[in-house]
Amino acid sequence: MDNTQPIIRYRCDLCGNITRFDVTETMTIKSFYHYGIDGQLNKEDAETLNRIIESVSCRWCNSPSNVKEVKADEVGTGDDTSPKTAVS
Ligand SMILES: [Zn+2]
Repeated sequence: MDNTQPIIRYRCDLCGNITRFDVTETMTIKSFYHYGIDGQLNKEDAETLNRIIESVSCRWCNSPSNVKEVKADEVGTGDDTSPKTAVS
């Protein structure tokens, strides 16, 4: 996977969930198909060319209507393993 895309987080405004979502996405992936002599397929060098988020549903509410897209630094991690940086 590449790391070029910004990290998008989600938050359910109804129940406050920030960690569990059912995400339906369509991805266009280019990869190198490498067949062995026995016909066994190995997929290598997978590169995501395009990625479309179709829908995001809250895992707890089972509804997409209250799920908002937020920047990664706008939500807490739920633990203290990563230091928070002050943003003005
Ligand atoms: Zn929810």
